[in-house]
Amino acid sequence: MEYKRLGKSGLQVSRLSFGSWLTFGKQVGDTTAESLMKIAYENGINFFDNAEAYAGGKSEEVMGEVLKKMGWRRDSYIVSSKVFFGADGGKGDLKPTQKGLNRKHVVEACDQALQRLQVDYLDLYFCHRPDKETPIEETVWSMHNLIQQGKVLYWGTSEWSAQEIMEAHMVAKQYNLIGPTMEQPQYNMLVRDKVEVEFKQIYKTVGLGTTTWSPLASGILTGKYNDGFPKDTRLGIEGLEWLKDRLLAEENLKKVKKLTEFAKELGTTMPLLALAWCLKNEDVSTVILGASKNEQLSENLKAFEVVPLLTDEVMEKIEAMLDNAPVH
Ligand code: NDP
Repeated sequence: MEYKRLGKSGLQVSRLSFGSWLTFGKQVGDTTAESLMKIAYENGINFFDNAEAYAGGKSEEVMGEVLKKMGWRRDSYIVSSKVFFGADGGKGDLKPTQKGLNRKHVVEACDQALQRLQVDYLDLYFCHRPDKETPIEETVWSMHNLIQQGKVLYWGTSEWSAQEIMEAHMVAKQYNLIGPTMEQPQYNMLVRDKVEVEFKQIYKTVGLGTTTWSPLASGILTGKYNDGFPKDTRLGIEGLEWLKDRLLAEENLKKVKKLTEFAKELGTTMPLLALAWCLKNEDVSTVILGASKNEQLSENLKAFEVVPLLTDEVMEKIEAMLDNAPVH
């Protein structure tokens, strides 16, 4: 495993990490959750990603049980939570005070995540989306105070714009508070703008770290949707029709088909090519993997072996197939 500083912080995060969105507490049973975390940890993954909203809090409960059962030293891994959406499990019955980035919810959601994960502090705590209903000062102060109280070590954002991140830094500077360390954006062969263009400047200025999500675009970048719809896969899960419709666009499938052939020519597989392509970007601190089966995770961990195959010439060929290079 390779490790990298999370932005300008001194925290060493494994370049591949593991998250439990849609899997723990939902798609996979507790035994699979346990074996997945065990495979991850034993292969050097040190960061486990979670959120209050995942399976309405159940994902954190399942992860917390595994962490407790495994008895891994608390100083050997990093665990996160995220606040904003609330933890209603999609039932839609949240009270107005049970969501958002206001002080009340940020503080209460942190305490609840600590309980569910059965840990004394969160290494990383993310604002899962920007909140137009809360002044940025209130959120920055709340995060700073949680750090002062020892409940959180580093705070960050997810799917914020560069401008919103900079506003948080300006507030932090004005009041001498701790600003956000990392952002969690989507990044994969099909979604590139934020990581490759929008944040380019703030990697340098504020030393932003990135923990990127959906490296396989929910599985479409494995090539398994190339020839029809396989059973027992994420895009077949009830309630995820919006994701399926968005991802299985003809344009995406055409590109993935070409890339799958190219991966074969290179002597590798489509998932490994897609993951290695993310790892190749040095502005990515860690690529968060997702998996519903042990074999998937074991395969995905081999992505490092494919990075050296991505020469300038190979990257150019991939660029031509993707045909979506962001404008700098
Ligand atoms: P991916 O895009 O890598 O999708 C993972 C899914 O793809 C797996 O669950 C599995 O689904 C399928 N898959 C993975 N590997 C293989 C393989 N080798 N062969 C075939 N199928 C495979 O990542 P996620 O979308 O899961 O995102 C990773 C993490 O990022 C999340 O767990 C979460 O922690 C974080 N995240 C954060 C978000 C945010 O807003 N901050 C949003 C989304 C995710 P299946 O078997 O069911 O088809």
